[in-house]
Amino acid sequence: MNLYFTFFIVRGPSVSNDTVNDDPIGGNVSKYIVLPNGYSGQPKKGHLTFDACFESGNLGRVEQVSEFEYDLFIRPDTCNPRFRVWFNFTVENVKESQVRGMVAIYRVTLRVIFNIVNFSKTKSLYRDGMAPMVKSTSRPKWQRLPPKNVYYYRCPDHRKNYVMSFAFCFDREDDMYQFAYCYPYTYTRFQHYLDNLQKRNMDYFFREQLGQSVQQRQLDLLTITSPENLREGADKKVIFITGRVHPGETPSSFVCQGIIDFLVSQHPVARVLREHLVFKIAPMLNPDGVYLGNYRCSLMGFDLNRHWLDPSPWAHPTLHGVKQLIIKMYNDPKISLEFYIDIHAHSTMMNGFMYGNIFEDEERFQRQSIFPKLLCQNAEDFSYTSTSFNRDAVKAGTGRRFLGGLLDHTSYCYTLEVSFYSYIIGGTTSAVPYTEEAYMKLGRNVARTFLDYYRLNPLVEKITVPMPRLRKENPPPYKHPSLRGSTSNVPGSRGDKKSSMNHKDPSTPF
Ligand SMILES: [Zn+2]
Repeated sequence: MNLYFTFFIVRGPSVSNDTVNDDPIGGNVSKYIVLPNGYSGQPKKGHLTFDACFESGNLGRVEQVSEFEYDLFIRPDTCNPRFRVWFNFTVENVKESQVRGMVAIYRVTLRVIFNIVNFSKTKSLYRDGMAPMVKSTSRPKWQRLPPKNVYYYRCPDHRKNYVMSFAFCFDREDDMYQFAYCYPYTYTRFQHYLDNLQKRNMDYFFREQLGQSVQQRQLDLLTITSPENLREGADKKVIFITGRVHPGETPSSFVCQGIIDFLVSQHPVARVLREHLVFKIAPMLNPDGVYLGNYRCSLMGFDLNRHWLDPSPWAHPTLHGVKQLIIKMYNDPKISLEFYIDIHAHSTMMNGFMYGNIFEDEERFQRQSIFPKLLCQNAEDFSYTSTSFNRDAVKAGTGRRFLGGLLDHTSYCYTLEVSFYSYIIGGTTSAVPYTEEAYMKLGRNVARTFLDYYRLNPLVEKITVPMPRLRKENPPPYKHPSLRGSTSNVPGSRGDKKSSMNHKDPSTPF
């Protein structure tokens, strides 16, 4: 088996000008200059240059329709042509047109239409107003294009595929412009983020390499907890969080970063959470897919979130590593593995929401709804209405389903989904597009919700920075039973592993 050979094939050389429509797309375009039909001279200013040979880049082919219109083809996931959603590419060498009027020279920007013609999905948030992201040399912050410039429709020219067309005005000749499906979040960015956290020498933050991907990128595992919780023989309540098993689902990384940033902060809530809980976080389960600019699969074309039943140490090494660790922890009598949350992004739904499991045991099923109900109270963008519980065959092999079947009744497993596009606040109908900051805020609210779940609020002596507690849906029908007795009865207190006050006690109303 020669994986590196595979790698070269999938990142093959630049696409030449003579590709025809039905050629398979072998790699990303590399500084590909579009020359007009019949033109044989040197490239000139205004011959657009497309590039996707950079980390997390994706653009497989460009075909010129006219000087002002281009058909763009997403490069399928490596070794799996079924998935074509994520795109991320640059355009440069634009030319400003000039029009001479009666008395003055008007500068006119170059308006071009791009058609993304080979999406593998038909249902899309583009129907609901989503727009691609853009940034440029002189405007380095990512913005969404105005929705009025975006069209999503069934196109007779492309085998009745759904095509997303967007019009864009290039306004500076020397700028490079970058377009993407959603806010990119690369493996390198993630590594720098972790390096910076490590430099802070926090005694409650630990980073280790749990394994390596097929292309030998790091599988990072973070542990965030007070050092006393890690001493030999201490009982541990563990919250296990994973992200980016689907590499194109970049909002997963922003949410995960929001959780981490909050948990390592000096916020009084974070301090209490660190004292009582052990957070184990593997924020990037598919580093190769992230690096390569895939949407759903690993280097070898596997959807890792369908291989939890039997991950192979050589074909799915990161998944294998995480699963081994979870099973080891589950079998450790000193560890109570309380939550598993896998963070994803959703391409057709609004808001944040969760998927949970269905259990025969009604009482266990009800208890499972507590965390999402509490999160709904804390996060204005999280919808309990959209949260659902299922055991669809199509979801077998996911982390949530597999671990929900493996772990005992004291553990809860969820998929946390967040929209690629927007959220709707209760009482309104207008969609608020997510920003990087809004994704991170959802992460902070997820972390903060553990305080409510474990009823640790009385231990927060003074919350100096109040968290916003906006509501957008009718408050979910959940209220904690009032606390009785001393704080030693609070679930999470040492020596209280299976406290009668714990939600997991069947005597609670849920
Ligand atoms: Zn996903």
